[in-house]
Amino acid sequence: MTRPLNSADFDDDKLHEECGVFGVFGHEEAAALTALGLHALQHRGQEACGIVTHDGDSFYSKRALGLVDSTFGDAATIERLKGYTAIGHNRYATTGEGNMRNIQPFYADLSSGGFSVAHNGNLTNAHILRSELVSKGAIFQSTSDTEVILHLLALSPKKTVQERLIDALGRIEGAYSLVAIAQDQLIGVRDPYGIRPLALGKLETASGEAYTLASETCAFDIIGAEHVRDVQPGEMITIGKDGIKSDFPFSRDKSRFCIFEYVYFARPDSRMEGKSVYEMRKNIGVELAKEAPCPGADVVIPVPDSGVPSAIGYAQGSGLPFELGIIRNHYVGRTFIEPSDKIRHLGVRLKHNANRAFIEGKSIILVDDSIVRGTTSRKIVEMMRNAGAREVHMRISSPPTAHSCFYGIDTPSTEELLAHKMNVEKIARYIGADSLAYISTDGLYRAMGETGRNNDKPQYCDACFTGDYPVDLKDHENNWTGIKVTRLQERSGKTGGAKG
Ligand code: AMP
Repeated sequence: MTRPLNSADFDDDKLHEECGVFGVFGHEEAAALTALGLHALQHRGQEACGIVTHDGDSFYSKRALGLVDSTFGDAATIERLKGYTAIGHNRYATTGEGNMRNIQPFYADLSSGGFSVAHNGNLTNAHILRSELVSKGAIFQSTSDTEVILHLLALSPKKTVQERLIDALGRIEGAYSLVAIAQDQLIGVRDPYGIRPLALGKLETASGEAYTLASETCAFDIIGAEHVRDVQPGEMITIGKDGIKSDFPFSRDKSRFCIFEYVYFARPDSRMEGKSVYEMRKNIGVELAKEAPCPGADVVIPVPDSGVPSAIGYAQGSGLPFELGIIRNHYVGRTFIEPSDKIRHLGVRLKHNANRAFIEGKSIILVDDSIVRGTTSRKIVEMMRNAGAREVHMRISSPPTAHSCFYGIDTPSTEELLAHKMNVEKIARYIGADSLAYISTDGLYRAMGETGRNNDKPQYCDACFTGDYPVDLKDHENNWTGIKVTRLQERSGKTGGAKG
């Protein structure tokens, strides 16, 4: 079945973003705490951010392109965001004024009152729902899949906001960790698969307890909040004046947390699902050293910063010395999310420099978390050779990234993924390494404390490595949604890729 494409199909805006969300209830400094929380979650999205607050009466909002620091760094801005409840959002997006309309949190006046929401994840059937809603007369303000939730909510015949949200989310497929404000309450929801993270924290205040929700626990640390627990897959948490209420309106038996959060995306000082991200990365390194040793090599060198914990693990596992053979300039953003290929190439050189004294004449093992397009590895290997490395061996702390993510991690279209087009040998040649090895999928699971991947009921979402998508994308093949998602992937890939 085909359908006419509409303007949103070709909008330069991204429909999906890598994101971080934060929320706080019951604190007189709600906006300031949210700004700090977003600052700690800056790695989850650097192009735009926003905060919406509520004082029991009105809603206040500030959303802007740029880093948290530059938008919420001044006291006057924070002061204008009144109230004891707040939610915030960090987003990756392309630059340009046109993208202002996709900056979250979103706000809508519903018949039940004001509602504001911030979303981390990626809805895989948003396009079907959007088209259905538009045909019924809905007028969309943005090109973000998150707005679909607002429209479904507005149309739900149910009475309470919670019931309406359950009704709306019941129609949605894909990944979502949401924070929302409605009727003087802070609401947090995680999709039934629990693909994206969401944690609950508590903060002592002079007048009692305040509660907070965040994508990662590093956002609790920055404000001195205690990590109470993770929001469970399929759980809806409502925090109000009467305390915390937990509901499980969705099935809970299919938990598939994103394993790539451990591999790369989350901050190493965060805890997710009871596990320290840093410890998991180190474990992966130890496992990688077992699986892919490099006899005769002199030294283990991380590709900073993402390769550092697993390189430490690799060095420990192999008994080889660990040295910072590459120094990173911290004043350059993540190379991967620069807007164009041209700048990405430039970014790699801006960002890293060889620490020559530890490279010259040596056989080195470079450890990084992943190879996506291969730009980083290629440049780094060349840089190591220019610094006099005798041999350059590359070890990767994830299996080959051969499939796009449809659930909120920024991977380009499959055609751009090196591991989709080439086998390991070819990739080694492409990046110019003397040898290349990735951790196996089972090795990755062993590092996570499992005996291996349970192929009948996988413990994590590892679709970027295995192509095994928790939400069966084949379901969409006979309608335009599948085609549309692919189109968007292709287009976003060209300009750097972005998802929620
Ligand atoms: P590439 O140069 O395209 O091969 O990108 C690989 C580098 O990007 C690795 O060093 C990773 O640390 C980093 N990376 C991998 N996945 C992502 C992602 N989803 N967002 C941002 N950076 C990433």
